[in-house]
Amino acid sequence: MTSRIVIIGGGQAGGWAAKTLRDEGFNGEICVVAEEAWDFYERPPLSKATLLEPDASLPRLFTEEAQQALNLNWYRPLRAESIDRGAKTVALSNGESLSYNILLLATGGRARLPGEAWAKHPQVYTLRHWQDAQRLKGRLAESKKLAIVGGGWIGLEIAASARKSGVAVTLFEQQPALCMRSVSGEVSQRLAAIHHEYGVEIRTGCGALELEDEGGLPVIHCDGKRETFDAVVVGIGVDLNLELARDAGLQTERGIVVDAQGRTSDPFIFAAGDVAQHHHYGLCIQSWAFAQNQAVATAKAMLHSDAPGYDDAPWLWSDQYQHNIQILGIPQPESTTVVRENSLFFSLDATGRLTQLVAFNDPRTVKLAKRWMAAGRDLSEVPLADPTFSLMSLR
Ligand SMILES: Cc1cc2nc3c(=O)[nH]c(=O)nc-3n(C[C@H](O)[C@H](O)[C@H](O)COP(=O)(O)OP(=O)(O)OC[C@H]3O[C@@H](n4cnc5c(N)ncnc54)[C@H](O)[C@@H]3O)c2cc1C
Repeated sequence: MTSRIVIIGGGQAGGWAAKTLRDEGFNGEICVVAEEAWDFYERPPLSKATLLEPDASLPRLFTEEAQQALNLNWYRPLRAESIDRGAKTVALSNGESLSYNILLLATGGRARLPGEAWAKHPQVYTLRHWQDAQRLKGRLAESKKLAIVGGGWIGLEIAASARKSGVAVTLFEQQPALCMRSVSGEVSQRLAAIHHEYGVEIRTGCGALELEDEGGLPVIHCDGKRETFDAVVVGIGVDLNLELARDAGLQTERGIVVDAQGRTSDPFIFAAGDVAQHHHYGLCIQSWAFAQNQAVATAKAMLHSDAPGYDDAPWLWSDQYQHNIQILGIPQPESTTVVRENSLFFSLDATGRLTQLVAFNDPRTVKLAKRWMAAGRDLSEVPLADPTFSLMSLR
């Protein structure tokens, strides 16, 4: 009988795992080791509403009452420093040792910086935690000119929020196109057009950037040009918090290797959320939906060895200006992209199967496409680009 489950990480995956354990009737002890001082919260609003709304409050995962009802033993703000798999204990940063019957790693990631000079400059910001959002919001209110380094989803969302607040934005991207790792060239162009329309100056293919200081303000060198900004936000990706797993000898690749049930190479240790490598795609999906649904599936498997496991197609969304952008699936190198009315971008593999759909303001088609994907439907003969052809007829 499992009597104590320890969860490391008080983020979205940790929160959903704790809730699911109780929903499934687990009445043993649940301990949550959390580096942050806050209750479970969601990060997506940090680059959107939190930056824009004057009185934005912590985007809690559960109401205070609902969280109380989970009856959790919090160890916070504390870090889990190491795992002794033989003794089944976790060493905490206050010197305590916590024993477990089952352990869940839900440690997420930390924002990456290009180098030492960037980490030291007081006007260089990253956005991962609630405090990061508070700091950035305060600085945006005093800024006229913002540089964003990194043209991925977080960088683009911050660009949109800054433009909505009237701040001039220059966005630097090392690659030749925006969001290049996650979407097709056609989608990158559409994203660039949207941001141009709102006045963002986009510098793609800018190579390695250098940072200097001028009277306390950050200066960016790019292509022989020197520009001073009030602040710089770096959004160049995340280093996953894999050290605990690696040091404990668990199998890791891009993330912690898990099966469909979230089980690591140690049968008593599970992993969920950003750190868990998708068992099918071999990637860390790093999205809100994965952090929630894979954690729910994993928590069920922690209690019932025959639980069905996680089987959703990768899905994430981004809100920029008035656009809701949904990204279903993973782009494949050999895919061809079919564009419908500049708002639906279907990527099909050589057999006509949908590998990715990027939809601008069209959640209905995303729902439909989830079914096509699950069924492995051949779409090669379907006139997807023809706006007079009803996609709903394919239901
Ligand atoms: C600004 C921002 C905007 C986003 N917007 C979107 C969006 O629009 N759509 C979307 O699909 N996804 C979005 N995401 C991604 C989504 O929020 C993440 O995928 C999700 O938060 C991952 O949850 P997690 O629980 O795995 O990790 P986290 O939420 O990172 O939680 C991990 C927690 O573990 C703690 N921790 C780490 N190591 C230790 C340790 N050793 N001991 C104790 N505690 C530890 C960390 O401090 C952290 O609190 C966004 C992310 C960010 C940062």
